[in-house]
Amino acid sequence: MHGTADLAAARRALVSYLKETESEQVALLQRFLRSPSANPPGDTRPAAAMLGGFLEAAGCPAETHAARPDLPNLVAAFDGARPGGHLVFNGHIDVFPPNDEHGWSGELRDGRLYGRGAADMKAGTMASSFAFAALHRLRDALPGRVTLTAVSDEQTGGRWGTKWLFETMGDAIRGDVLLNGEPSGINNIRFMEKGTLRFTVTVRTPGGHGGYPHLSPSAIKIAAEIVRALDSLHGFAPPLPEAVAKALGDPAAVAAHDAGLGQGASTWVRQMTFNAGVIRGGRKVNQLPDLCELECDIRYPWGLTREAVAANVARILSAFPGASWEVHENHSYPPSLAPPDDPMVRILADVVEKDLGAPRPVPCSSLGGSDSRYWRYAGVPAYLYGPSPVSMGRADENVTVAEFLHITKAHALAAFDWLASRG
Ligand SMILES: [Zn+2]
Repeated sequence: MHGTADLAAARRALVSYLKETESEQVALLQRFLRSPSANPPGDTRPAAAMLGGFLEAAGCPAETHAARPDLPNLVAAFDGARPGGHLVFNGHIDVFPPNDEHGWSGELRDGRLYGRGAADMKAGTMASSFAFAALHRLRDALPGRVTLTAVSDEQTGGRWGTKWLFETMGDAIRGDVLLNGEPSGINNIRFMEKGTLRFTVTVRTPGGHGGYPHLSPSAIKIAAEIVRALDSLHGFAPPLPEAVAKALGDPAAVAAHDAGLGQGASTWVRQMTFNAGVIRGGRKVNQLPDLCELECDIRYPWGLTREAVAANVARILSAFPGASWEVHENHSYPPSLAPPDDPMVRILADVVEKDLGAPRPVPCSSLGGSDSRYWRYAGVPAYLYGPSPVSMGRADENVTVAEFLHITKAHALAAFDWLASRG
């Protein structure tokens, strides 16, 4: 018989355990940072083996589900003592390529851990994994089920990672709610992400001598006009659902967006952006270029569909004969949204405020993408809560020890309280 008293005792035990094991948690993250997992090129086996070894030693071993042998995904799960809700943790093992060999140093200096992936997102993945193992110790008191998914392909589009897990074992990993420790900043909980439409525009003309413009148009001049024409999409803002508009318009959310993502971010989360990131064309200064390629990236907010965005691109390009375009399917996906007023948002905010004594985090939007979208596409509320994103991808990428320990506690206690509320 497990009553409220048992749960309260288990929660106290969890709080003590998370406190007692702080140095162990830091040592684990340091080992994780020292285990290479750059993607590209994509061989995450050293880091996956380290994480798998930790889970095995903790008594909750993971299964390996690999679409590619060099990109293993780890899935571990356990059932509590009685039926309840199913909480899923998700994090990625792969990281950007390091700038140099110092990227795998895992150096601890002045209260910070350094290394490629410290922010994005080995700290978050280790926090979720430690939280998973800590909850596993209390499984006799807990209702429900907990699953951990640690994937090896997020940085290059995810087709061998979370997307593949959903295709091959979606029922096992979908669950009822998702927590992910992608870098968000500890003052906000990310509940929505923009969609992406990425494409290449190719302009072809006969070309010729630069002094004979009457014989051929210039592919580069046409491409320049196309950039200006597509830029008319930049800044478009569709109407948002009322609950989302309310969450994003809250003064605390406006301040959190601008503080965490840069001044002005609070308006860009609701607007479409157009970026021409690469332009290639021309061979010689006195030649009329016969070919110009543009690589473009549109980020569009909730409220727009890919079909609507693509129709606008097609309409604009139809004015330019000689221009064709091709979508990069692996990097194009719709926006995703979880309710900003879901019980998990309140539970997580309560833990941060009441247990950890930090300012109450507010629901925010992301400007980039994460694997949490696959859960949102499946109708499962999915939230990001992780460390500061400021240093991600930089040569001095780092996470403060204090934030890493904060994230571990927030994930473990929020998961515990959510499971208890569903038991
Ligand atoms: Zn990431």
